[in-house]
Amino acid sequence: MDNQIVKKSRTDKQCAVTGTDAHYQALVASAAAAILVIDESGVIIDANPYTRTLLGYDHRQLVGNNVECLMPPEHEGKHQHYLMQYLTGGEAKVIGTGRRVKARHVDGHLVPVHLAVSEVQIDSRREFIGIMSDLSALTQAQASVKHERNQLKTIINAIANPVFVRELGGRYTMANHACVQAVGVDSVEALADAFAQLLPKGGRETLNALDHQLTMNGEPVHTDVTLNDGRTFKLAKTLIHYLEGEPYAIVTVAYDATPLLNAMKDAERANQAKSDFLSAMSHELRTPLNCVLGYAQLLMNATSPALEATQQQYVAQIHQSGRHLLALINDVLDLAKIEAGKISLNPSWAPLRPMICEAIDSLLPLARRQTVSLRHTLPDTLNGDIYVDATRFKQVLINLISNAIKYNHAGGRVTVSTRQQAETITIAVTDTGIGIEQDKLSALFEPFNRLAAEQTHIEGAGVGLAVTQQLIAQMQGEITVSSEVGKGSCFAVTFPYRGQSLTEIASSSTPFTLTQPHRVLFIEPDVAQQRLMADWFEDWPLLTLTCVHDLSLAAAMAHTTPPSLFMVSHAVLDDTADQVQSRLGERPMIVVNVPDTESMQSHSDSIVTLASPVSGAALGRAMQTLLEDRA
Ligand code: ADP
Repeated sequence: MDNQIVKKSRTDKQCAVTGTDAHYQALVASAAAAILVIDESGVIIDANPYTRTLLGYDHRQLVGNNVECLMPPEHEGKHQHYLMQYLTGGEAKVIGTGRRVKARHVDGHLVPVHLAVSEVQIDSRREFIGIMSDLSALTQAQASVKHERNQLKTIINAIANPVFVRELGGRYTMANHACVQAVGVDSVEALADAFAQLLPKGGRETLNALDHQLTMNGEPVHTDVTLNDGRTFKLAKTLIHYLEGEPYAIVTVAYDATPLLNAMKDAERANQAKSDFLSAMSHELRTPLNCVLGYAQLLMNATSPALEATQQQYVAQIHQSGRHLLALINDVLDLAKIEAGKISLNPSWAPLRPMICEAIDSLLPLARRQTVSLRHTLPDTLNGDIYVDATRFKQVLINLISNAIKYNHAGGRVTVSTRQQAETITIAVTDTGIGIEQDKLSALFEPFNRLAAEQTHIEGAGVGLAVTQQLIAQMQGEITVSSEVGKGSCFAVTFPYRGQSLTEIASSSTPFTLTQPHRVLFIEPDVAQQRLMADWFEDWPLLTLTCVHDLSLAAAMAHTTPPSLFMVSHAVLDDTADQVQSRLGERPMIVVNVPDTESMQSHSDSIVTLASPVSGAALGRAMQTLLEDRA
């Protein structure tokens, strides 16, 4: 750069203050801004090297030319006017102030610059120094910020969910279209009043408290709010921070959950109606069916006059079909009860080993009929308690083991094993049966879906696994399935477990040995309990079990064919045990499933009470005592 600029733009005083010519030269030559000197008529006298970098002109292309050559076409011819305006004391547009303008590059395109012009008095002459700083990068950055802001605004307005921003001081600063529409206002300024109208009493305070909590710990907040007009919104609130990290506002994204909640209520009502219908139907079917079964059993056992052989066959057929139908109805009833939330489970710690052994024992006859081997591989050390509802857990085991037997081949195997983890235990029922295709596994627990088993001769209704899964879920357990077609399946259930049993289990292995046949009449309204009992009795060949629902049918049956022993569920006792016993005909009696044996005192030595959950062994010992030891 040329000395001229320095020379012409300084005064002696300035020079004395800021340094030498050499300093100025270096400063002007190395400045990252275009510096031009022009005279009063606008002719360029000098330009520094950066002018070329910024605008592409050679030194000689500029010097001697009017500064107008650097102006955008629309300003051409106006420079003289601006200058004159300034010189005559008029408004200074650039001189002494500085502003954003566009400068013309030698190739014609316009470069955004900041132009600062200062006036220099040299003798009687006035000259002007123009300093142009490149604003291309800044302009580009500003354009891209503007573009992004515009894009963000479009996106936020396109969101169907209401979105709004509220500063920590309480002022609403942004609301998208969906928000103003949902609230019924036409601008963000009207939001505060509209919310005050819509929020129920105390609603504002609750939301303020949540906002405060969010500001304190920064954790996004999720909450529901039901407005005075009945609509329910789900709100997700997040803190917005300045770049430096300070929070300054809260953005809330709302979701109108009203249609979904209404649909859910409708679905729940429909589901409830279905469950009520199923439950009522099942009940209506079960009661007469139990009568049919009860009287069929009476007929089968009738001795005077005894039935002929063919009649015996017919009655046996009625009884078998009735039992099958009853099992089906019971499953449907269970499912309906579970779905209606009407099933109450009482989980407690109970010894695991006896429950598995009893389930296996009860299914040995079925396994024998199907020529399938059924065994367990329980370690001797398995003497802990599992946390389940004992009755329902046995129902689960029986469902899984009976499926493993049913969906098996002649000569196949079913194995029950356990795998103990730190605080849980997994009980696996593994079979060598037909297996299940991978793509059907997901439908396994759907009610009434038999996965094409309905095309086989294997009996079933497709409800067992649905019930099993629901019961497991209600007992906070887990079920997993793995299977391979043609090789077999493994159903594994996991529950809490503690290694050392607190219950005395040694006695449960005490065998009981009956020497004569006996008839037992079981009065129990709960079909699941009836089923369990029937399963146990399958393994006690000398005992015949008849189940009835209520005391009056039991009394009628006892009148015609008196049983050797009554088993009465605590649930049907409408009187003291002694009085019920005398109504039924003074036979030995066992009261089962007593919630607390202490509360159940009897004066008769022919009455035994067993606390819930009843184990097969305890029941066996009680029957042994009442039927043979005492006799
Ligand atoms: P059901 O046995 O009465 O049909 P479930 O609900 O117990 O009903 O079982 C549903 C279906 O799952 C069965 O119909 C059968 O196709 C299949 N399934 C269940 N257990 C097994 C198993 N161990 N091996 C192969 N298939 C099975």
